[in-house]
Amino acid sequence: MMKRLFAAVAVAGMVIAAGGAAAQTYPNRPITMVVPFRAGGPTDTIGRTISEAMSRNLGQQVQVQIVDGAGGTLGAQRVAEAAPDGYTILLYHVGMATTPTLYPNLAYDPLTDFAEIGLVTNVAMTLVGRQRLPIATWDQLIQYMTTRLDRVTMAHAGIGSASHLCAMLFSQLTGLDITTVPFVGTAEAMLDLQADFVDFMCDQTTSTVAAIQNGQVNGYVVTSPVRLEQIAEVPTFQEVGLDGFELNVWHGLWAPAGTPPEVIARLNEALRAALTDPQVLRTFALFATFPVPLEDQTPEALHAKVASEIEHWRPMIEAAGEFVR
Ligand code: ASP
Repeated sequence: MMKRLFAAVAVAGMVIAAGGAAAQTYPNRPITMVVPFRAGGPTDTIGRTISEAMSRNLGQQVQVQIVDGAGGTLGAQRVAEAAPDGYTILLYHVGMATTPTLYPNLAYDPLTDFAEIGLVTNVAMTLVGRQRLPIATWDQLIQYMTTRLDRVTMAHAGIGSASHLCAMLFSQLTGLDITTVPFVGTAEAMLDLQADFVDFMCDQTTSTVAAIQNGQVNGYVVTSPVRLEQIAEVPTFQEVGLDGFELNVWHGLWAPAGTPPEVIARLNEALRAALTDPQVLRTFALFATFPVPLEDQTPEALHAKVASEIEHWRPMIEAAGEFVR
């Protein structure tokens, strides 16, 4: 750890020494955007959508690289340890704030080992079920789960993923100790859901809206405070009477700590351009994925978000106890 710290300080020193000159020529080669989840999942979709628009703005390719595993922490570690030169950045979500509690031996500190670029999106989650389930209402859903508790399964994308968080909250708030099944990623879990191998999953709308619209899965409940127009028939948790089920999956963009402020400012400019790009907004709208408001598109807002969300989730995860698995 210390060795890494010295190396990072040395590299940061070199970058600062290069000073304004580096910032003026930045970027002069492709940038790697690390996506810490499997291809075909929501973070990958969001990454591929904004990276195209950021590439147009920066005049250099922003290339998505999948570094998945351990709930996104392996990809985050890769970026924490990368050279702080603006050529390696990270797209991650709420997992940045839940994993410090879920993984006590995390190799990095989410608040000090990164330079924040800005918040990116807000996305609700949906509880979906395999198409053949004979369930039409919330009461039928609870009854189905209660009477088959020994057999019902819920997929998720690994401990630290948002789908794991959602499954955990669901069990905690309903008191139903549902067996969870970890998959390597959302896309793989959605395939098995459609093939009847698992019963339920709670995942971001980015990956579920089209499947609900096409009737490939049933949509039961959405975690947003109001219904979403793309899946207007799906009620909110509040409507079905399950209070306290608030789960907004926010995404943020980070660089390694020590990245020069001018470089962060340039990346932030590109992020802002992406979040107003008509093509990006059209793609986001298809999946009920919302760009964050202007005031949240800042490094400061992302830092504050991570700090407050770590405190928000810690007691809930600790209280979930046996459901964390
Ligand atoms: N949907 C995944 C999760 O459960 C992550 C992703 O692929 O975006 O967190």
